Amino acid sequence: MAKKYHPDTNKEANAKEKFAEAQSAYELLSDPKKRENYDRFGSAAFDQNGGFDPSAAGGNPFAGAGGFHGFGGGFGGGFPGGFGGADINFEDLFGAFAGGARRAGRGRRGPFQEILVGEDIEVQTNISFMEAAKGTTKDIVITPLTPCGTCSGDGLKKGAKRTQCRQCNGSGTRVHFMQGGFQVAATCDACGGAGMSVPRGSECGSCNGNGVVRGKKTVQVDIPGGVEDGMRLRVSNEGDAPPTGTSAAPGARTQRGDLYVSIRVSPDHRFSRSGSDILYTAQIPLTTALLGGEVTVPTLDGEVKIKVGTGTGTGDKVTLSGMGMKRLGSRTSRFSPTGDLKVEFKVAMPKYLTGNQRTILEVLADEMGDKTAKRVMNVGKDR
Ligand SMILES: [Zn+2]
Ligand SMILES: [Zn+2]
Repeated sequence: MAKKYHPDTNKEANAKEKFAEAQSAYELLSDPKKRENYDRFGSAAFDQNGGFDPSAAGGNPFAGAGGFHGFGGGFGGGFPGGFGGADINFEDLFGAFAGGARRAGRGRRGPFQEILVGEDIEVQTNISFMEAAKGTTKDIVITPLTPCGTCSGDGLKKGAKRTQCRQCNGSGTRVHFMQGGFQVAATCDACGGAGMSVPRGSECGSCNGNGVVRGKKTVQVDIPGGVEDGMRLRVSNEGDAPPTGTSAAPGARTQRGDLYVSIRVSPDHRFSRSGSDILYTAQIPLTTALLGGEVTVPTLDGEVKIKVGTGTGTGDKVTLSGMGMKRLGSRTSRFSPTGDLKVEFKVAMPKYLTGNQRTILEVLADEMGDKTAKRVMNVGKDR
């Protein structure tokens, strides 16, 4: 049972619960001490809230506040309505000992109060660097399961009805006899615990009895400015509808799964990014670096001209405040709603000089008192 309902493999809404039940039952059956306690005291021995453990050192079994009600129940007349807030799973699991008691229990908190939840849908969408910076809206095409229009989701042919499950006679439970006459109740696998099943040939033709069909749908997804590559957006209730036709609880409330959109941001050949700041490297000519000037740089909102100070070197930076990316999810006044554009200068050094250029530079070297520069043209000596 634990294998069947392991939450990693079983996607049923109540798989986790069933898994826990199965585990508890196994624990109980495989531990002779626990089992003996169960046999003697009923499930009160395992009441997790106010109960007692009769085998615990010094424990007075009658001192417990709430664990006592189940005492007389045991295998006889069933568990009297609830035992002092005892763990629900136990009653479900062992209710079968008491025959009809289980069905009575179902009325209080049976599967009909469960919510059937559909599967999530995962998609990926690609956006440009610019779209990531500003935010964008994408039309995403998905093919989710939606309730079948022909049968309204119950998975039945028109006029057909579910009938009592023959395997469990409608109880939803099958009792297995173990060694020593011990009985274990398990959810009926023929009907999944519903107690009802769809007679062969009565399935709705449109959805093959699933109660849901796949259909194409376009979902508009707002992608906020400032998203980073690899982020995932959740769009609530745009996933699959649960397969109500094959569900163990056809009358249960339903909820669609969610849509998850993984976002891939294409890199930009001009900009790189550091959080909400954008980095741009501006190449400037050597002479502009020395003399100062003005260069044109791209921004998210078109090109702008920025001043280059006299004597600007490689690695010097200019910050254009508020011209970066939108800051994701920041509504606090401590931060501006956008990052900055940081322009880093890189001086383009000539690797080859013409005769004229060398002559001029050697004159410049003389002028600036540079004693270490190599002289080839020997122009200075003639002056
Ligand atoms: Zn249908
Ligand atoms: Zn059944």
